[in-house]
Amino acid sequence: MELGQFVRDVADFPQKGILFKDITPLLGDAGAFRQAVGAMAEPWRGQRIGAVVAIEARGYILGAPMALELGAGFVPVRKVGKLPSKTYRVEYALEYGSSVIEMHVDAVTAGQRVLIVDDVLATGGTLAACVKLLSQARAHVVGASMLIELSALGGWKAVPGMDVRAVLKY
Ligand code: AMP
Repeated sequence: MELGQFVRDVADFPQKGILFKDITPLLGDAGAFRQAVGAMAEPWRGQRIGAVVAIEARGYILGAPMALELGAGFVPVRKVGKLPSKTYRVEYALEYGSSVIEMHVDAVTAGQRVLIVDDVLATGGTLAACVKLLSQARAHVVGASMLIELSALGGWKAVPGMDVRAVLKY
């Protein structure tokens, strides 16, 4: 099955000039959803991933079933103010303005092997911020697994040397 046919391009969302990759048709198809999760998990099987760290909110939808596939725990990274206990915090620049993400300080242990998951790799700013959070926790980031990479934006350059995989490239 060609997964690309389940990704819908929406022009000028959420703002003018952005071609939004809408994955809801893929999520709504049982076979495509299963295939996508399997393909995202595949490169990391046997790599002793202890935790899948996923980014709010679409990262959760893919990250949770991947954690189960890989026999790993699931760790949510959230926008500021949502996590109830003590957190690490990273502020990062967006195209317009900035954002803050957080992770519980006890969510991963020092040296734990973790995999970062999100739906789309664009500029890589979100991924780099997530790596900073995990370095505060002294976790070992094994790599990142994305469903979609927007290759022209070169997001992998934001995380030099990191093993970043994507199932679909545009
Ligand atoms: P970036 O930090 O630029 O790599 O952006 C990544 C985050 O923004 C991901 O969490 C994506 O969900 C979202 N994102 C950025 N660009 C797009 C796009 N063209 N279509 C869908 N989601 C996007």
